[in-house]
Amino acid sequence: MAASRIVIENCAIATVDAHDTEYASGHVVVADNRIESVGAGPAPEGLQNVTRRIDGTGHLLTPGLVNTHHHFYQWITRGLATDHNLFDWLVALYPTWARIDEPMVRAAAEGSLAMMARGGVTTAMDHHYVFPQGSGDLSGAIIGAARDLGVRFTLARGSMDLSEKDGGLPPDFAVETLDGALAATADTVDKHHDASFGAMTQVAVAPCSPFSVSTELLRQGAELARAKGVRLHTHGSETVEEEKFCHERFGMGPTAYFESTGWLGDDVWMAHCVHMNDADIAAFARTGTGVAHCPSSNARLAAGIARVPDMLAAGVPVGLGVDGTASNESGELHTELRNALLINRLGAHREAALNARQALRLGTHGGARVLGRGDQTGSVEAGKLADLVLWKVDGLGHSTIADPVTALVFGAPAPVTASFVDGRQIVEHDRLLTADEDRIARSARDEAQRLARIAAGT
Ligand SMILES: [Zn+2]
Repeated sequence: MAASRIVIENCAIATVDAHDTEYASGHVVVADNRIESVGAGPAPEGLQNVTRRIDGTGHLLTPGLVNTHHHFYQWITRGLATDHNLFDWLVALYPTWARIDEPMVRAAAEGSLAMMARGGVTTAMDHHYVFPQGSGDLSGAIIGAARDLGVRFTLARGSMDLSEKDGGLPPDFAVETLDGALAATADTVDKHHDASFGAMTQVAVAPCSPFSVSTELLRQGAELARAKGVRLHTHGSETVEEEKFCHERFGMGPTAYFESTGWLGDDVWMAHCVHMNDADIAAFARTGTGVAHCPSSNARLAAGIARVPDMLAAGVPVGLGVDGTASNESGELHTELRNALLINRLGAHREAALNARQALRLGTHGGARVLGRGDQTGSVEAGKLADLVLWKVDGLGHSTIADPVTALVFGAPAPVTASFVDGRQIVEHDRLLTADEDRIARSARDEAQRLARIAAGT
């Protein structure tokens, strides 16, 4: 059967390809789930099977945004422990998190995904690491939510096996055993991971962090991921407390500890990486280890400013992350473009730290690279997946900013007129087409209240 085509014309286009090619007024032709062509001016004449033509006048078209770090379940524990640093915040929230069950996780995943999708995210990820005993099929619930909303998705199957009694942070009842965590992770990969080009669901192996998992879980987790051919994800170098923990317990800093357990490599990406010295950054660059930069969460928890300009200069792959919404209540990624730029300008490189195009690259192709999918999505190029966003930049918030990329990054969050994943439109005029936002809001609120009651023992 001949491909059905969607034609988008008369919009500015930031392709985020290797040369940062842009068109002041251009076109994109989508054929089935791929980008067939992109270029200046109107689309070629004589195209067959055009099912839809979109006039993009007043819009900027970019690759869909790619989120590289999140914890969906936190959607139902937002706005708590608001004035804490990371360790105190974790200690305050773990007892509540340990009570989650499958309906709660499904509702929270829908809320997290819906919020990101209507803000231009086309590829999402969830690092889920809380699996209380008897809580149901949490991985299945999360993957089902992403599938139903139509968002491209990586589940980073997390785990924790180091509880308070072993010197870790989580309470004893919130963790799995080493063998249990590894077996369940292997099972999740076998059941859900799709290695093909254009996969809608992938799975990564993702022990939570150095202070909540054993050395053995890191080591054997890395072996498992490599045996299965999937990626590895964890939190790294987030706070000074973590650095102290690693020095006291292992006699080395977090990056050296990760290296000693097999956790540096071009199949690994790590969230945060705030406290990195020059040698740490060089080790990431040498090994191709990726970084999920989460500027709002790092600010919310007073963790510090990651050295993104230095990482980029060294050649480290860097993407952006919302992080869990208990530490970034907005749950949006398009605002992280702006926050990444602004927060990095408070660091050593000041006004030269990042520019608008670098910020857009972090949120698109940078993220796709970090998820191991830079050849498939993250830029607007012929042959790539049709993951695209049409941002309205001629309205009240943006019409006086002449450069559309500057409008998108420096301005207020731009309205999303249309967002496509795999050639399928999932957002129109800031509203999800694939799910009922009001229903999601209600069910997430109900599940948040149920969790709060259970946690309070009432
Ligand atoms: Zn996180």
